[in-house]
Amino acid sequence: MKVLLTGGLGYIGSHTAVELIKAGYDVEIMDNLYNSSIEVLDKLKQITGKETKFYKVDMCNLEEMDKMFETGHFDAVIHFAGLKAVGESTKLPLLYYENNIGGTINLLKCMQKYKVNNLIFSSSACVYSDKNVSPYVEDGILGAVNPYGRTKFFIEEIIKDYANTNSNFKAVILRYFNPIGAHESGLIGENPNGIPNNLMPYITRTALGKLEILNIFGNDYNTPDGTCIRDFIHIVDLANGHLKALNKIDQLKGFNVYNLGTGHGYSVLEVVNTFNKVCADKVKFKFTERRAGDLDCYFACADKAEKELGFKTQKTLEDMCLSAYNFEKNNK
Ligand code: NAD
Ligand code: UDP
Repeated sequence: MKVLLTGGLGYIGSHTAVELIKAGYDVEIMDNLYNSSIEVLDKLKQITGKETKFYKVDMCNLEEMDKMFETGHFDAVIHFAGLKAVGESTKLPLLYYENNIGGTINLLKCMQKYKVNNLIFSSSACVYSDKNVSPYVEDGILGAVNPYGRTKFFIEEIIKDYANTNSNFKAVILRYFNPIGAHESGLIGENPNGIPNNLMPYITRTALGKLEILNIFGNDYNTPDGTCIRDFIHIVDLANGHLKALNKIDQLKGFNVYNLGTGHGYSVLEVVNTFNKVCADKVKFKFTERRAGDLDCYFACADKAEKELGFKTQKTLEDMCLSAYNFEKNNK
């Protein structure tokens, strides 16, 4: 089976590429390198021992997309490409709508034209309304609260509408919780430009002295230690969720939604303390004001993915911290 990974040089796409190649899938990658580096392609070769075909294509350019599909003869697409910074999306909503939604419409047009009928889409837990009680279930209340989250919600709806017009089309929506960590080789991992917005790259860079101190945003939340609780999931487990979905896609029908999480919440302080326990360099931290928009606690119900896809996470919080640390040490 030949699988196209859009945005496949990014954090989640690159880890998924490794797991799919290891499992024997024929993987090809397209990316416009907006938030990734071409060096990742060589890292993939070092890890898998295989050359991966790469298309430098912008999904907003329909002509380029069409050319790639004409020669690609793909059987399935895993659609990672997109912009993902929540804060930036509130300042540049049109860019987010144009890139994420416009790009997805181009992708679906090409899939329709070239009769590619299997799609896995990277969605997010941020499509859920804060009215849900954890664990979040797939048929819970939807209600994204920022433009980024709304692009995910709208794309899910667009895919559903398209699936209703094509009985051969199968879509798997994967709603990720909080992926962290890196591949055990230390060659690929999360490598944001500039000052990280997310917790784990902030922790690793602080521990290694690239940043001074970690600010923990709030310790007065309604949780046992006062810091927020999230469902942190190891990136390699998350990547394997895509493999499970792809393995099962033939047996699925129409539009399907699965959470990818551990089903367990860890507090921010628990993550920091675990990091400091298992890694040689320690993170200095202080408690500061809450960050606008953060919820006190949410985590996934992971039952549906386990029952229907056979997906169960394997890695521990220690594995997540150690692998992230190892990647940051290698990352000059
Ligand atoms: P990433 O930024 O590392 O990877 C996304 C890739 O898409 C990048 O390599 C970027 O260059 C590429 N891209 C962006 N716009 C493009 C375009 N117009 N044409 C071609 N390529 C384009 O992000 P990631 O963390 O790997 O996330 C992958 C997907 O998962 C995204 O859709 C993201 O919204 C979603 N997601 C991520 C998280 C997370 O915590 N990382 C959580 C939930 C959902
Ligand atoms: N967080 C923090 N300091 C940071 C970055 C994040 O305390 O420098 C907290 C943040 O407030 C949230 C949790 O870590 O409670 C996870 O945040 P992240 O941005 O990684 O993911 P989110 O859950 O917002 O998608």
